[in-house]
Amino acid sequence: MPPNTFAGASLDRASAMRTDEAWLSERLADPTSRALPVAPDGPYLRCEGDECTAALVPLSDVADEATELILLGVDSHGALFAATLDSTPAFDGAAPLSLRDAAFRVGQSDGGLLAYATALANWHRRHRFCANCGNATQTAEAGFVRACPRCGALHHPRTDPVVIMLVEDGDRVLMGRQAAWPEGRYSALAGFVEPGESLEEAVAREVREESGVEIEQPSYSSSQPWPFPASLMLGFHATYAGGEPHTLDSELEDVRWFTREEVELAARGESGFHLPPPIAIARRLIDEWLN
Ligand SMILES: [Zn+2]
Repeated sequence: MPPNTFAGASLDRASAMRTDEAWLSERLADPTSRALPVAPDGPYLRCEGDECTAALVPLSDVADEATELILLGVDSHGALFAATLDSTPAFDGAAPLSLRDAAFRVGQSDGGLLAYATALANWHRRHRFCANCGNATQTAEAGFVRACPRCGALHHPRTDPVVIMLVEDGDRVLMGRQAAWPEGRYSALAGFVEPGESLEEAVAREVREESGVEIEQPSYSSSQPWPFPASLMLGFHATYAGGEPHTLDSELEDVRWFTREEVELAARGESGFHLPPPIAIARRLIDEWLN
């Protein structure tokens, strides 16, 4: 199985080099260094029709305008930075596109790269001040730390774990829908992992809270970066153990069982209810169950 969409960036993250100030200075001055500009609306892409690629530009073209320069890593062409921008300057043939829209139009590696850069850009935009003392923070370690000059606190990029699980009972699966989703869309249940909770406990609690159903034997399948703004989706299959599904909180407007026949029809686009798109880990969980 290939990685999920938004995973699979094919570059060396060079994490050991983030603290090497001399090496970083050389890369910032190196004419072969490139940057992926990331505007408030999303990362820059170059598109021909519906097919797009990440728009990498010479670092020197964007360095002066960037609010942050973040070392993403190195590949065979040299160092690659994300350049976060507060505006939307023109670059030759490139324009920003939301990560959600970009996901349908780029290849695996570019999807991973765009998600990686967007996740870091989101974190910098939302964490400009020290959570400990309120002072403005400064970027350090090539964009992977924000340091507080007043109290000395070091803040690291944040990732929020979310469990997403398909509850299965032989030839039927449990799915729910949120009112804000496109008409007819149903998907696997999901929710944030809480402090002091294991993933398997979070799976059981979220299913109970959203549907009143009890599960057993949650088994991990795969994961997906989901930087909207900072989630990591952790996919599980879980076995039904009891209870009748019904909505309990305001999060879902409906939750119910679907038969294998219903899901197969929806997977072929021949049903009034719709599955999540192929870019979503929820769809992979459903396809794994169908197969
Ligand atoms: Zn501080």
